[in-house]
Amino acid sequence: MIQIITPLNFLGTVYREIRQALVDMGEMFDLLEQPSEVREKPGAPELEVTGGRVTFDAIRFGYDPDRDILKGVSIDVAPGQSVALVGPSGSGKSTIGRLMFRFYDVSAGAIRIDGQDIRDVTLDSLHAAIGVVPQDTVLFNDTIRYNIAYGRDNATDAEIEAAARAAQIHDFILTLPEGYDTQVGERGLKLSGGEKQRVGIARTLLKDPPILLLDEATSALDTDTEAGIQTALARAGEGRTVLTIAHRLSTIADADRIVVLQAGEVIEEGTHTALLEANGRYAQLWARQQAEEDDDD
Ligand code: ADP
Ligand code: MG
Repeated sequence: MIQIITPLNFLGTVYREIRQALVDMGEMFDLLEQPSEVREKPGAPELEVTGGRVTFDAIRFGYDPDRDILKGVSIDVAPGQSVALVGPSGSGKSTIGRLMFRFYDVSAGAIRIDGQDIRDVTLDSLHAAIGVVPQDTVLFNDTIRYNIAYGRDNATDAEIEAAARAAQIHDFILTLPEGYDTQVGERGLKLSGGEKQRVGIARTLLKDPPILLLDEATSALDTDTEAGIQTALARAGEGRTVLTIAHRLSTIADADRIVVLQAGEVIEEGTHTALLEANGRYAQLWARQQAEEDDDD
């Protein structure tokens, strides 16, 4: 029996991990098109995260060999720092996220985590080090507890609750008819976009990755929900290195550093205040978004 059950369990685990990875990535990067294959070096060691420094060192990349999307981008994210990537649509922000996950390899330059080229370590260890908070969290037809713990079988109730508190969803869960045992998903209680996103944040927090990659939702959530999400994301980022792919500038104004991309190049970087003073491209984008938000009122 053991000889039969063990491989089946193993396959089940592998299948679940792959599916989870696809769910996480798919949500974030619309992975409908298959990325080109990256290969793990034979005998590659595991990534050893010491502080969580992420370095993009003069990286170049194009989906087509004859059209460079990133034209020598250098960004250094110090351990525990939060850096936001901003720039017009198509400037290459999401591509930087995909490269950090090694969905593709750079054509020149290198991406390093704590000094290790990500091409030299195992893919599993790379992916384990980076937590993703997707724009749209998929819920399974199961309890909210299961949905938060998903991907970490050994989580204790205390750990699940701590993650839910940090994600600003614990109080909401307590108002549900059966608390953490309430069925959610298509066949249970339907959660709002903001609630689902907080479940996603709790799920990521439970995995406790040293590096976080946030792809900010483009769709406007209502102001209340938005404030809750912002608090949850700020808590999630404490003590971690955070790279945020931002669409709305108002949510990243207090990042340690803002990097402005345009047509695959870094054209400006600095704090929100410094960039406004510089009165360049960021100041323009800021003024435009402020005007749009005023229009909405
Ligand atoms: P951003 O996130 O800043 O809006 P992206 O990184 O998604 O920009 O895209 C940068 C450029 O790369 C765009 O011109 C886009 O059309 C192109 N691009 C993105 N994904 C692919 C792909 N899978 N194949 C070919 N071109 C792509
Ligand atoms: Mg994008």
